[in-house]
Amino acid sequence: MTATDPPAATPHAPDAGTPAPAPDAGQQQRMRQLSQALDCSDNGVVLCDRNARIHYINEGFTRMFGHRPDEAIGKRPRDLIRGPHTEPATLEQLGARHRAGHAHREDLLGYRKDGSPLWLSVVATPLGGDDGLLVNVFTDITAAKIHEVLSGKVLYALVHEEPLAATAALVCREIERVAPDLLVSVARHEANGELQLLAAPGLPPAFGISATCPLVAQRGRPVEVPDLGADPACGNCHAQASALGLRACWSYPIRSTSGQVLGVLSFHSRHPGQPSPWHRKLAELGQYLCALALEREQARSRMHRLAFYDVLTGLPNRVMFSALCEQPLQLAEQQPMPMALLFVDLDRFKRLNESQGHAAADGLLRDLAHHLQELAGAEAVVGRQVGDEFVLLVPQCPQHRAALLCEQLLAMIAAPRVVGSITVHASASIGVAMYPEDGRGIDTLLQHADLAMRRAKDEGGARFRFFSADMNRLAQERLLLEATLRDSLRHGGLRLHYQPQLHGDGGLYGAEALLRWKHPHLGDIPPARFVPLAEECGLMTPLSYWVLEEACRQLADWHARGIAVPRVALNLSASTFEQPRLVEQVRGLLQRHHLPAAALVLEITEGVMLSEQPQVPANLHALHALGVQLSLDDFGTGYSSLSHLHRLPISEMKLDRSFIGEIGHDPAAAALILSVLRIGESLGKHVVAEGVETEQQRRFLIDNGSPVLQGYLYAPALPADAFERWLHERAST
Ligand code: C2E
Ligand code: CA
Ligand code: CA
Repeated sequence: MTATDPPAATPHAPDAGTPAPAPDAGQQQRMRQLSQALDCSDNGVVLCDRNARIHYINEGFTRMFGHRPDEAIGKRPRDLIRGPHTEPATLEQLGARHRAGHAHREDLLGYRKDGSPLWLSVVATPLGGDDGLLVNVFTDITAAKIHEVLSGKVLYALVHEEPLAATAALVCREIERVAPDLLVSVARHEANGELQLLAAPGLPPAFGISATCPLVAQRGRPVEVPDLGADPACGNCHAQASALGLRACWSYPIRSTSGQVLGVLSFHSRHPGQPSPWHRKLAELGQYLCALALEREQARSRMHRLAFYDVLTGLPNRVMFSALCEQPLQLAEQQPMPMALLFVDLDRFKRLNESQGHAAADGLLRDLAHHLQELAGAEAVVGRQVGDEFVLLVPQCPQHRAALLCEQLLAMIAAPRVVGSITVHASASIGVAMYPEDGRGIDTLLQHADLAMRRAKDEGGARFRFFSADMNRLAQERLLLEATLRDSLRHGGLRLHYQPQLHGDGGLYGAEALLRWKHPHLGDIPPARFVPLAEECGLMTPLSYWVLEEACRQLADWHARGIAVPRVALNLSASTFEQPRLVEQVRGLLQRHHLPAAALVLEITEGVMLSEQPQVPANLHALHALGVQLSLDDFGTGYSSLSHLHRLPISEMKLDRSFIGEIGHDPAAAALILSVLRIGESLGKHVVAEGVETEQQRRFLIDNGSPVLQGYLYAPALPADAFERWLHERAST
């Protein structure tokens, strides 16, 4: 036992009050045992009198602080443990409680004999005797204190989504709190390789980033400068540091779980030298906490980008665009200014996408996104809606400027570009809605610009249109029409009419079924109007299936009643031929109605033939294999390439009525008709001449190869019963 004798027997006690009676041998023995037991403890135990003078210390105290009993006895504990950053108020409190003889506990930063700091918990308990003795038990809580930083505050901030800078500042402040000899800063390693100061709450704003930080970020290893004055690399930052009383700087890399350097944590110490093990421990913890915060921020911004920005072009997406428009729109409410919302949609983008591949089309979109932004200027908000739709909100943009901008955009878009294997001359349709005339909120403006864009597209594309109120009225009408069409389809409001097709000798070749829709209020609506509408609102497939079903039912009915209609031709739109279930449906229908497949003719347009969808040729071949006839409608109007006639199993061509109408007027049309008739003849295909209205036309056609004839000269499309009467009347004349 190196400590003093047991307290009551100490000769050093300067003022121990009334002397206690001398202990007997047994008591002495017990006290020695007690003292031995106390020496085993890791806690420092100190016995003081009412004047706070030390009477006794155990070995634990010596191990903890380095003071031997002869150095401690007679002194006050506060004089032994006090150091540069011990809080005077806490010490004061300790003293006052002590004098009052109250039990108490306090946490404080203390110092060892060698000057190194440690966090202490002090529990003082009066022994209750007349001599006013008190036991102080000191516990080293440094590790627990550090843990408190971790679990208590920083993790709380992380969990509660505090902003990154605030969390970094919290880490700094908490480290400074447990190690008041330090000033701490955190810098973030940016994607461009530069360091950006995130937090340095204890340092003046001008202090900036330590000279050693870039080195730390580069090498990913700590750099500890024990004496800033002696390190040439620290040149001018030394002057700044020494003005603040800082002598050493130790910087540590902050690494992600994958090892990437996310930032640098710097400790600026008021004392020169290397960091103590305690400092190192704090650094380790600080690095860990900062890594958590920075990694979480990385994940958050990645998610933010994914949620609000279009991955392909980097432009704000639909949601973000609207959010970004809020501010300029609000501003314009306070300080009125004209703004333009431009809705840009590429023409025929789908075809480009299909013919040149997605990668090429993506390249075009990226390129356009870049140029749109450039032309619209830094003030404009540019976003990508979906697919090939871009939107721009341009502030300070009266109508004449908007028109000019549209011209520029159209010219930029029309410039030839190499996309995939070809040079494309893209074009776009642009709709413009003006703030505030056409709407004050972003949704209305978008909706109106979209309508204007559609008008530009309907007029042929490669142009821009300003929104006007009548567009809105038409759009409302369309919406209403769409709803009614849906309803008619479901509740039997549609009819098929049949137009006869005749051989040159007058015999019935077949009938073309044509769709008719009588709107409850608007009356007859021509298919040229409602068929595209059905296509746009996704009604085309159910509509086509209805037509197929109804035509087969009618044909079977005629057959059952002995009415000889050899075949019925149907018009199916391009999108219907993309349906994977089409062939199965047709096969089922033919079976159900006991019809020979050859009685069904499906008219296809060139759009169908040109489709890049692999399902389309597959369907055409499968239908042909089934025995269904395929007819090429409107022949001569498009790019009708003869090569398609070879490639696809077409058995019939329909000469477009625009040529028939020119018979007797335009020799070129007549020549074309003749050559089509020749081609049909040599390829062994039927040619149906549509739109035959006059005797002259009939004569010309019959004289030149006798195609099948269809037109008002014979009959318009008729309801089934009228068609039957027409047949009957013909037979009887
Ligand atoms: P289309 O397939 O070329 O149909 C021929 C059109 O010419 C029909 O117009 C018919 O009534 C009209 N027509 C017939 N003979 C004459 C004539 O001598 N002179 C003139 N001027 N016109 C004649 P409709 O019924 O208005 O159909 C227009 C277009 O609507 C059709 O052109 C077709 O593309 C589409 N359509 C009609 N019914 C359907 C259908 O059931 N499904 C699909 N997808 N489209 C249909
Ligand atoms: Ca047709
Ligand atoms: Ca036609």
